[in-house]
Amino acid sequence: MGTIDIEDVVKVYDSEEGEITAVDGVSLSVEDGEFVTIVGPSGSGKSTLLRMIAGLESITGGTIAIDGDAINDVPPQHRGVAMVFQEYALYPHMNVRENMSYGLKLTTDLPDDEIAERVEETADMMGIEDLLEKKPSNLSGGQQQRVATGRAIVRDPKVFLFDEPLSNLDAKLRLHMRTELQRLQEDLGTTSVYVTHDQTEAMTMSDRIVILDGGEIQQVGTPEEVYANP
Ligand code: ADP
Ligand code: ADP
Repeated sequence: MGTIDIEDVVKVYDSEEGEITAVDGVSLSVEDGEFVTIVGPSGSGKSTLLRMIAGLESITGGTIAIDGDAINDVPPQHRGVAMVFQEYALYPHMNVRENMSYGLKLTTDLPDDEIAERVEETADMMGIEDLLEKKPSNLSGGQQQRVATGRAIVRDPKVFLFDEPLSNLDAKLRLHMRTELQRLQEDLGTTSVYVTHDQTEAMTMSDRIVILDGGEIQQVGTPEEVYANP
């Protein structure tokens, strides 16, 4: 299972210029297995909303629930979510195998041999089995993206959170990785929230698209609905 219920969620940042309301009363329910993309102009609150689901930002108001349980006060590693970042955010001093094992060692009491087995299975699935002993600095952008995705998959989360995971790749690789992510989504069927500013990604990957602007939802619908009535 992996439903997400976002109810009247608000995020206010305190900054030097005063308070910034980044997310201004967002309500949204994501079904189990659904792939939802969040699009909208820069500064519209996309990352902030995603980071609140992940537990990387506190929630100023409202509630976020996963499978019916409010997670506002649950630490990130216990929310059942795994996030893939634009900058990959791999641990530079760890090789690929260690990068992929680390989260499981930290948050589960699985025995080492089972962790090793899951890492190898996932590495096979992502086509990175030959990279397991390499450090991130020795990998290309596409390889790092694959490792970052593998690191999320290996944790078998209820929910995947993607923050513009393809925007650092060149056009050709972006297309390739998009197809790969779509295939994974079909295979795994894990609930996903995917932030992008790329209309093609939103069109081709989503069950539903959410358009954010000024921290508020402007429109929600299937790709056909959203792009037929812009
Ligand atoms: P998007 O992902 O759509 O580009 P963000 O969620 O990054 O939007 O930002 C939404 C608003 O919140 C912007 O006005 C941004 O400047 C502000 N913001 C984001 N992070 C912080 C922060 N850590 N401190 C203060 N303001 C922030
Ligand atoms: P994105 O649009 O992909 O979120 P940004 O460049 O807006 O990227 O933000 C990158 C980082 O800077 C994020 O961690 C965000 O929280 C932080 N940030 C964004 N806007 C502000 C701001 N006005 N003040 C402080 N931190 C900010």
